[in-house]
Amino acid sequence: MDILGVKVHRVSLEETLAAIGGFIEERSSHLVVTLGTEMVMAAQKNKEFLEVLNAAHLVCADAVGIIWASKRMEKPLSEKVAGIEILDRLAALSYEKGWRLFFLGAAEGTAEAAVEELRKKYPEMPVAGIHHGFFKDDGPVIRLIKEAKPDILFIALGSPRQELWFWRHREELGVPVGIGVGGSFDVLSGKISRSPRWMISLGLEWLYRLYKEPWRWKRMTVLPVFALKILFCSKAPGDENVKGFS
Ligand code: UDP
Repeated sequence: MDILGVKVHRVSLEETLAAIGGFIEERSSHLVVTLGTEMVMAAQKNKEFLEVLNAAHLVCADAVGIIWASKRMEKPLSEKVAGIEILDRLAALSYEKGWRLFFLGAAEGTAEAAVEELRKKYPEMPVAGIHHGFFKDDGPVIRLIKEAKPDILFIALGSPRQELWFWRHREELGVPVGIGVGGSFDVLSGKISRSPRWMISLGLEWLYRLYKEPWRWKRMTVLPVFALKILFCSKAPGDENVKGFS
C-alpha cells in the first residue's frame, strides 16, 4: 500500500514475526520499519529518508493515522502493528528460536533497565549487547555490534536517524534484522508510561503521549497537514479524480 509515496505492508503482528524469522534465516541484512505518521511527513521533505523507507524489507503501520489513511484506499489495513509489541514478542520467542538480541539507543542506563524488565518476563532471553544512543563516533559502536553478532538489532535513536543509521551501516554491521523502535526502551524501562489500554483502543495513544511529553506538540503540528493531504490528495474508492492539493 502507498501512503503519500511511502510503502506500507499489509501485515498482521503474526505475519510480521514470521517475516522476521525468515529474514534471520536468510542472514543477509534486512531493515524493518515501524511507520509513524510523523515519519511519512518527514519523508515528504527528506528524499534520502523516503528512499530508505521504500527500500526497507518490511514496513509495518505503527500509527492510527496510517490506518485511518488506508481506509480511503481499496483494501484498508486492518490492524496497527506497534514496534513495542514486535519487540516484546521477539523477546518472548528469542530463547526458543536462539535469536540473540542487541539493544541500541536511548539515554545511558535506559536500555539496561528495559532489558531488566524484559528479563522479568523472559529470563532466558539471549542478550548479545546493549549500548546507549548518545554517541558521537559511529566506529566503536559499529565494532561492538559486529563483534556481538546479534540476529536482531533494536534501534531506539528516534526517526529518521535510526532507519538512516542502520541503512548506511548495514553492510558493515552484518546483522540480519535491524528494526527501529523509537521510544520503546523509555516505555519498557518505565521511564515513560504507555497509554492506558482504553486510550489505545480508541486510537488516542498520540494524545496520551502529548500529555506525558508536551514538548512533542511542535512535532505533532504535521498531523493535521497529513490529514489534509490524505483527504485532498489520495484517491478513495469511488473517487473519480484525485483532488489537487500539495
Ligand atoms: N535518542 C537517542 N539518541 C539521540 C536522540 C534520541 O538514543 O541522539 C533516543 C531517545 O532517548 C529516545 C528515542 O531515541 O529513547 C527516541 O524516542 P522518540 O519517542 O522520540 O521516538 P519516535 O518513535 O517518536 O521517533
